[in-house]
This record gives sequence, C-alpha cells and structure tokens, in this order.
Amino acid sequence: MYDRNTNKRRTTYHAYAKINLYLDILSRRTDGYHDLLTVMHSLSLRDDVTVEVLPCPTTNISMRVFGSYLLPTDERNLAYRAADAFLRRIGKTARVRIDIRKRIPIAAGLAGGSSDAAATLRALNALMGHPLGKSALLALATTLGSDVPYCLVGGTQICRGKGEKMQPISCKTPLHAVVAIGGKEHIATPRAFADADAYYADFDGSVPHGSDPDGLYAALAAGDIDALGAHIYNAFEPVVLPSCPLASALKEKMLALGAYAAHMSGSGPSVFGLFRTREEANRVATALGKGAYAVSSVL
Ligand code: C5P
Repeated sequence: MYDRNTNKRRTTYHAYAKINLYLDILSRRTDGYHDLLTVMHSLSLRDDVTVEVLPCPTTNISMRVFGSYLLPTDERNLAYRAADAFLRRIGKTARVRIDIRKRIPIAAGLAGGSSDAAATLRALNALMGHPLGKSALLALATTLGSDVPYCLVGGTQICRGKGEKMQPISCKTPLHAVVAIGGKEHIATPRAFADADAYYADFDGSVPHGSDPDGLYAALAAGDIDALGAHIYNAFEPVVLPSCPLASALKEKMLALGAYAAHMSGSGPSVFGLFRTREEANRVATALGKGAYAVSSVL
C-alpha cells in the first residue's frame, strides 16, 4: 500500500453491482427527485478500482478504464467526481490516479458507476488515513448520486428517501443469479422517472401496485426462495419494458430456462434471473451467451 521510495500510496477496492429486489416509487418530490422504497442487494459481479495517491501541491486527477471503450475518464465519470469531491471535502490536494477494471455493464440499472465512485471514496479515505468517519463519507456520497451511499455499505439494505436512508436486513440464503443485458436499449434514469410520472399519472404519493414489501423481508430473513420469488417487485417494469423488447424477451427466456423469478434491475434495461443453484445459473449464463453473467450474493 505504501512505497517508501516513491512516497506513493496505492490500494484496490472491489466495486460490486447491485440489483433491486424491490423498487417502488412512492412520491414525486419538489426537488425533482422521487421518494423510493427499494431493497438493494449486492452481487459478485464487480469492477476493481485501484487508487494511487501522491503528494502534490495542486490537485491532479487522472483515470484509466480497462474493459470498456465507452466510459469517459474526466469529470463526466462519477469516480473522477468522487475523487475531486473527497479532496475538496478534506481540504487537501494530491495527485490521484484511478484505474478501473470494468466488468459491470454500464448504464444498465446495476449501479456500476455509483459503485466505482463509492470504491474510490473508500480507497481515498483509507489511503489518506481515514479523515472522514462513516457518516461524513455517507453524506459526501449522497451529494454524488442516489445509489452511491448504498454502494459504500453494500449487502442487503432497505433504502428510502432518494435511496440514502438505509436499514440493513438479513438475507439468510445467498442468491444465485444471471444478470444480462438484452441489447442497446438504454433509457436514461431521469427519462425513466419522467415516464413513471406519466404512467402512474394518478398517483397521490403511493403507487397502487398490490405488492408486499413485508412479505419480501420475511422471505429474505427465512431464506425462503419461493416466497422471495413471488415478492420481487419493480415499479419501473411496466413503464420501461414495453419499449425494451430485447430486455422483455430476455426476461421471458430466463423464466423459460428455469428461473424462479426474473425482473429488471433499477430503471433497466438489465434483467436478472434467480436460480436455485450456482450450477444452474452457470448453465443458463452459458446458454444466453455474451453479456450474461452467473453471479451470487455478496452477503
Ligand atoms: O441521483 P442520481 O444522479 O443517480 O439521479 C439521476 C436522476 O434520476 C435524477 O436527476 C432524477 O431525475 C432521477 N431520480 C429521481 N429520484 C431518485 C433518484 C433519481 O427522480 N430517488
């Protein structure tokens, strides 16, 4: 971590993908955001974020991304903005180099960018001697994006507000999933929320959906995957899936291949299917081919 000769400090953090086992949009807020009730769950699909810090009288951040040609490496990248925000917050300058080994599909509802940003914050905080405590780091994460606080903590969390109010819940059994993207059917998150506003035009603060989050919490705590499968819910599905035929087809295919549940994650277009064993998930990921990953819970 510390090289005495160069004064260089370097560390690598894993940045895990998340899926939403439950996602309800409760109300539209006056600040342009929506209050959510969502259950986020970490999966072993991950990026690796290596951060290196050198003393420097001015701040100089540079980034490299391996495994994706599409991602910017400047302030348009959330990990870059995380490093900048961190240094400003602690009132220090440094030369920071961020290398990301990308595996999580981008702009897919799997929180890849948020997770990279969270890993960058954790790495910088460790490399600089933990100047920020947990609550200060969470507050900083909240300014970067709604999913970043969850990505700092990970595991299985009930998230409220924009997503930043978290409560851990027990998940007794590790889940085995296949995560996949049907194709290039990206719908930007603000657009998905605007479409949800239109779809749930008559919602007055509580979307009528007939789902049961308590049932989901109980199923997770009991490790009852049949009950879990029946309680997974995503309010974005009827909004987003009709304009994403490839993602819809992928969801149907996962069910036909034996998934006990298959749903979109976040505002899509990624789809996850849940399977009883890792072996089954492996077989299905192989059958689906490129862009499908067999993964398990990070509990
Ligand atoms: O917080 P984040 O930058 O990820 O949010 C992107 C966009 O998604 C916001 O500008 C907003 O339009 C929408 N959003 C929302 N309610 C949330 C989270 C995100 O309306 N809870």
